[in-house]
Amino acid sequence: MSQIQYNLNSIKSSLPEHVTLVAISKTKPVIDIMEVYMEGHRIFGENKVQELIGKYEELPKDIKWHLVGHLQTNKVKYIVPFVSLIHSVDSLKLLAEINKQGEKTNRKVNVLLQIYIAKEETKFGLDENELEEILKQKDSLSHVQICGLMGMATNTDYEDIVRKEFKSLKDLFIKIKSQYFSNDPAFKEISMGMSGDYPIAIEEGSTMVRVGSSIFGGR
Ligand SMILES: *Cc1c(COP(=O)(O)O)cnc(C)c1O
Repeated sequence: MSQIQYNLNSIKSSLPEHVTLVAISKTKPVIDIMEVYMEGHRIFGENKVQELIGKYEELPKDIKWHLVGHLQTNKVKYIVPFVSLIHSVDSLKLLAEINKQGEKTNRKVNVLLQIYIAKEETKFGLDENELEEILKQKDSLSHVQICGLMGMATNTDYEDIVRKEFKSLKDLFIKIKSQYFSNDPAFKEISMGMSGDYPIAIEEGSTMVRVGSSIFGGR
């Protein structure tokens, strides 16, 4: 077994059953992805549209591809035909474009709404007002399925800061679920946790972790 396969299996065996692992393969070559694939894993994530498309074309078609990085409106049309979940919806304009492309390709596109939970200016995401604005419009967007929320914690060694941010996302999820999705079982995912913080995220209620370097090695 290779180092990558060993990493994958030890992470997988540590995850509770209800937590989905998205293997983040950005910057890594297709041969590395194939090692993970050969172990039976099928869910991979990329943060750039161009790279996502290239790997989609080269790799087996039963892979479920997730986009986890910032998405520009003009690139939506390239990924909507095949993408399995877009984690990074951070504006109503973007969601409307995904809906439009979903309509064109006759797909209902799975998305998560990315929430700004960190203390870092550089991170993307909706604040609570923008989120409310989107949720008021959601019933008119028939070709998107809002499956939950996504967030990235501050990149810090202070565990209590990270934990508090994850907890705030879980609390928001519960509130939104009861207000807007109480009859929609598809709204169930909380995508939080990366290599450095996924054990904390799971303790705070994550259902989906996005792990790159702990599987594939440093970038
Ligand atoms: C790169 C990336 C990850 C994975 O990061 P690692 O620290 O390598 O696990 C997770 N989520 C997003 C949005 C990313 O861009």
